[in-house]
Amino acid sequence: PIGRPLMDPPAPDLSAQELPSVTVTRLRETFATGRTRSLAWRERQLQQLLTMLETEEAAIAKALGEDLDRFPGAAWSADIATTRIEVRDALKNFRKWARRERHLLPFSTWPSRGFIEREPLGTVLVIGAWNFPFYLTLGPLVGALAAGNAVVVKPSELAPASSRTIKDLVEKYLDTDAVAVVEGGVEVTQALLAQGFDHCLFTGSPQTGKKIMEAASATLTPVTLELGGKSPAIVTADADLDVAARRIVWSKLANSGQTCITTDYVIVDRAVQKPFLEKLLATVTAFTEERPDGQPVINRRQYDRLLALIQADHGGQVIAGGTVDDERCLIDFTVILDPSPDSAVLAEEIFGPILPIVTVESLDGAIAHVGRGPKPLAAYLFSGNRNDHARVVRDVSAGGIVINHALLHCLSPQLPFGGVGNSGMGSYHGKWGFDTFSHLKSVVRTWTRPDIPLLYPPHTEAKARI
Ligand code: NAD
Repeated sequence: PIGRPLMDPPAPDLSAQELPSVTVTRLRETFATGRTRSLAWRERQLQQLLTMLETEEAAIAKALGEDLDRFPGAAWSADIATTRIEVRDALKNFRKWARRERHLLPFSTWPSRGFIEREPLGTVLVIGAWNFPFYLTLGPLVGALAAGNAVVVKPSELAPASSRTIKDLVEKYLDTDAVAVVEGGVEVTQALLAQGFDHCLFTGSPQTGKKIMEAASATLTPVTLELGGKSPAIVTADADLDVAARRIVWSKLANSGQTCITTDYVIVDRAVQKPFLEKLLATVTAFTEERPDGQPVINRRQYDRLLALIQADHGGQVIAGGTVDDERCLIDFTVILDPSPDSAVLAEEIFGPILPIVTVESLDGAIAHVGRGPKPLAAYLFSGNRNDHARVVRDVSAGGIVINHALLHCLSPQLPFGGVGNSGMGSYHGKWGFDTFSHLKSVVRTWTRPDIPLLYPPHTEAKARI
């Protein structure tokens, strides 16, 4: 329904090496025709994406149920609604983002005029993670399409039902000459990267991010890396403890803690440690009642990793949870009070329903604690004091900061989303997604008359002073 296919899609039985090469060649040929540059084409793709999200809710929820054991409601809020916000924002604004940006130039260049032209990069690659399999592949796709690129999407093989559904739906709704979903694991991803792209946006762990960047360097493919890290929630002495407890537990319970910007751990002021812990534990009990059978973690490998974190000699006190269901890969919401600073649970990104609590004497101690580790993807502050807000915004380096809540910065296309340092490079969402997938081309246009000899020899002092 969307443009006549230029050539037959590749046969599904091609090998892991052949499929990436055939697919990328096909997309490059489409891009070279100029079809994806047209604003009408971009609008059509975005509209189709929106239609897809609206009409295929049941198929998406089913896949998320199979892969992640998510409730349909949670599937809607975490993968469908979030992606829809991005598509709607792009549909509303992409013409404005694509507009030529005119600038006045220095007098020495008179009568030149300058402008910035945002051109599509070409054929780009989006590699997704498994925890929000739709949002983390279709979200970046929004920016890439809005900017007029041909796109290869590589969903995570660890969420196979979602990967298959993404492929089926993209083929049903989008221009298959310009948007292709290639399924597979490490071998396929490496074969894709070997083709060379005009950009690659990767979402995943810092460890894999290094491998992606290394593989991309062979073809000088620029990368945006959306990585993870240990995002702290700081609770100060004058925080609203009821609200802090609710919002922290909510952020950690979502997707069983398998969220890149979940509260990885809490840093609490000793002055309020006791009442905060009481409220936290009461909230865990209240919030887990909704689903007494719990949400298992994705697979046995993750389960074993998380179990090892709990069972290790971490030096802390398990004050809630700690119980597991080996058969279902289920880990109860577990709270560990004051594990030793060098324990694995305080050193590694947890990515599961385990919440360590670190007690400090002051906000200075909390800021120093965060500063000793790699820069996190997010930092949350619960405090009623505006001076504390200002201090944390100034002194904590993180991908994003939310004051008195968690996760919210990710849900706003009006803000860029990305990490810093170990938690990533580059950003997307809203206009930043569009810019990530565009080249900002500087253009100067001038005239041959008058031909002012300012730049030509002889280079007199008077000329140099102008
Ligand atoms: P991962 O790094 O294991 O895998 C992500 C993708 O990389 C998958 O598509 C996988 O097939 C591919 N991959 C894995 N190893 C590869 C290799 N050697 N060469 C080429 N490709 C390879 O990540 P994950 O386990 O799916 O996700 C969890 C991590 O992602 C956590 O660290 C989390 O914080 C992070 N994350 C970040 C964001 C964000 O927006 N910044 C969002 C979700 C998850």
